[in-house]
Amino acid sequence: MADSDSIDQLVRDSLIPMTGLLSLLMPGSATVGFAIKGLDGRYRLANRTIERLLCGDGERLAGKSEEDLLPLATCRLLAESDRRILAGETAASIEIDLAVHGQNSQCLWLKLPVLGVDRKLQAIASLIDEASPQPGFVAMQQTLARLQQSNRELQQTVAELEQVASTDKLTGAWNRHRLEEGVRSEMDRLNRYQHRLSLLVLDIDCFKPINDQHGHATGDAVLKRLTTLLQAKLRSADSLARWGGEEFVVLCPNTGRSTAAMLAERLRREVAMAKFPAACGVTVSIGVAECEPGESWEQWFERADEALYRAKTGGRNQVQVAPETPQRVGPEQYVVANFVQLVWHPAYECGNELVDRGHRQLFADANELLSAILAEHAVEQVNAIVDRLVADILQHFGDEEAVIVAAGFPAAAEHIVLHRALVDQALQLTKAYRTGTKGVGDVFQFLAYDVVTKHMLGADRLFFDTLQPQATATERPGKRLSSRSKPPQRQSTPAMPGPLA
Ligand code: GH3
Ligand code: MG
Ligand code: MG
Repeated sequence: MADSDSIDQLVRDSLIPMTGLLSLLMPGSATVGFAIKGLDGRYRLANRTIERLLCGDGERLAGKSEEDLLPLATCRLLAESDRRILAGETAASIEIDLAVHGQNSQCLWLKLPVLGVDRKLQAIASLIDEASPQPGFVAMQQTLARLQQSNRELQQTVAELEQVASTDKLTGAWNRHRLEEGVRSEMDRLNRYQHRLSLLVLDIDCFKPINDQHGHATGDAVLKRLTTLLQAKLRSADSLARWGGEEFVVLCPNTGRSTAAMLAERLRREVAMAKFPAACGVTVSIGVAECEPGESWEQWFERADEALYRAKTGGRNQVQVAPETPQRVGPEQYVVANFVQLVWHPAYECGNELVDRGHRQLFADANELLSAILAEHAVEQVNAIVDRLVADILQHFGDEEAVIVAAGFPAAAEHIVLHRALVDQALQLTKAYRTGTKGVGDVFQFLAYDVVTKHMLGADRLFFDTLQPQATATERPGKRLSSRSKPPQRQSTPAMPGPLA
């Protein structure tokens, strides 16, 4: 059997990037001799049967050439069969006499090409079958039939090689095929044990201009550097695959949506800060989706891809999370599940400049706080944002109350009561946050859900007509766009914290 060094070498050389072929080398699995020879003429792998036929006792075939072992006349015949394989033939067989432990043994030696994923010849495989003791034509027929069967199996394996080769040649990351294998087994676990499972789809922003300005080789170097960087930053259970071109996928087992969003944000930030070949500034956009029970791989990927598309259209260099399906949403998950960034929309404008400015400011505060949470900023930094957002809420409520009272909004008093309740809640929450009984996630939850989602986009709409009677805007944001059409090319802008779209 092949020793582990030569197997390692082979895997490194990508000659046989698949275990199926190696299984032929397992003891007992092959009655025929089987070996693989590199194009330098030295054997790399061999099973015991072929070593018994070609080598002395205890001698290994790996590392040796045919000339090291066989008489010149035999080597000439074998060299001729190699020439046929090098010339592109799919098989070359010769009958040959080998001296096996002092006895002459008639053998059929079949040579076959081993092709790499690029369809180029990578190595030459040998199958050797000793003719059975039964003399004559029948025995040779049986031998040939067995060899043909082995040949078919080998060709099948070689064909699979191209598909199954599990790593991407340029970057060394998993390729799409290997990823899909991983996805299958992880989805199986999800359905059986309800493990959570998330996916990041990551695409380099404006990669084409990098190629155009610095050349394809630099583009390749950027892809390699990005792969190394991502691999270094991922957790050990996560798998990185190159999906194609400048698009990558990360499979995150045992990971829910919020954790995946944080991981994505960390990766985005690391990439934006990293140095790349030719001093290229590289940023990535990332879509995140958690697999829902009963969902197919295609549906799940599509949702992650749609989130990526939103990240692109939202200005690139940002993370977007696919919305959770309603049955899984608990109240405490609502905001993080649905917003990685709150996006301002013209329909939120009431027409009063002071009120609209306040609302925009609270959106920006929420985005800044979430960004700081996801990016794991220092506690002091987060505390400063929390303080500012409480101050902004107080300031805005005061402004808004003055505006609606002056405009004669009939339910102004009730609205002011709602404000008081929110202010009380905000003060209690920040106190609890300071003493450690509430987390920063609760603060964000309050701001994004209670203040922004429920109050600003809910209760506040009641006075829109009073402030701007002609306003009829009811359009909702977030209309889904086809994820396959290309988002418009825009200058990349940092998204977290960033300007509101
Ligand atoms: P966007 O932000 O919208 O993703 O813009 P983009 O320029 O990154 O996307 P686009 O799809 O327009 O261009 C992708 C480019 O990636 C074009 C293609 O030549 C390049 N590319 C794909 N695979 C490779 C590769 O293996 N090596 C190099 N150097 N470039 C590649
Ligand atoms: Mg791109
Ligand atoms: Mg209000």
